[in-house]
Amino acid sequence: MIPKLSNGLPVNPKLFDRVIDGIVQPSEPDTGVSKIPVLDRGWVELLDIMPHPMTGISPETAIVNAARVSFLGESKGAEKDAKLLRYLLDNRHTSPFEHVQFQFRIYAPVVTFWHWVRHRTWSFNFSSGRYVEFDESDFYVPDVWRKQSSSNKQASDGEVGPGVNEILTRELIAHYAKCYELYEDALTVGVAREQARLFLPAWASYYTCVASVDAHNLMHFMNLRRASEAQYEIRVYAEAIYEHFFKPFMPTTAEWMESK
Ligand SMILES: Cc1cc2nc3c(=O)[nH]c(=O)nc-3n(C[C@H](O)[C@H](O)[C@H](O)COP(=O)(O)OP(=O)(O)OC[C@H]3O[C@@H](n4cnc5c(N)ncnc54)[C@H](O)[C@@H]3O)c2cc1C
Repeated sequence: MIPKLSNGLPVNPKLFDRVIDGIVQPSEPDTGVSKIPVLDRGWVELLDIMPHPMTGISPETAIVNAARVSFLGESKGAEKDAKLLRYLLDNRHTSPFEHVQFQFRIYAPVVTFWHWVRHRTWSFNFSSGRYVEFDESDFYVPDVWRKQSSSNKQASDGEVGPGVNEILTRELIAHYAKCYELYEDALTVGVAREQARLFLPAWASYYTCVASVDAHNLMHFMNLRRASEAQYEIRVYAEAIYEHFFKPFMPTTAEWMESK
């Protein structure tokens, strides 16, 4: 039987599967089941969360428990807990939210990570092109080509249109193929992986990353990166995290965020 959290939500089965006899097991071999697809071949998955579902304490209960330590109290039931949570949010009493931690594994192109790593409150570890050879499919191909915005110097607005779209995509794929061929040629003549990768289209290269953050800073990230001003290639990741991992685990907080 899948246990329920203190706020009545069922435990994410993926996390539950990884606990055997009360002990958290290392990550399962990659089955693809828990991965939320993003962009053409990217994904994001939740590796872990603190408090872990096996404790039976929901993240939001952990937050109110942390806040109530001020007067050495704990949870007072769902209704009073939700009221306190909204009070904390309304009054920017943010530190209790730092006791909840999320850990993700992310597969995204450099154009996405370039924005993501600016968020200094996250901890990151990346796959390394010095250790691992790139695969010829490790490059991002957008669905559509967006037009430069006329009102915002850093943004896009609308699409270039179907005819041009197809030509550009064909050219991009041919360009990637040529880059990959040069990369392989360099490896074949003995060039080190760390240098051969200079032939690859860097902005488009997909990397895998493990990233951890607390709930307070995740909310800050989502506020900035789900906004329409954020580049599409990071917005879709922020949206996936919000919908599939944040909202189910922190429903009252998500409702509060949506009311703002
Ligand atoms: C739409 C958009 C456009 C952007 N354009 C550009 C751009 O053109 N060029 C560019 O360089 N960046 C750009 N950025 C990145 C932006 O400047 C921030 O670096 C990024 O959004 C991370 O935000 P943050 O610093 O608040 O988050 P985090 O680094 O996660 O920090 C969270 C909070 O912690 C505090 N904090 C963290 N580190 C420090 C510190 N060293 N000193 C003081 N307080 C700290 C701050 O209160 C900060 O808000 C853009 C961001 C967005 C959303």
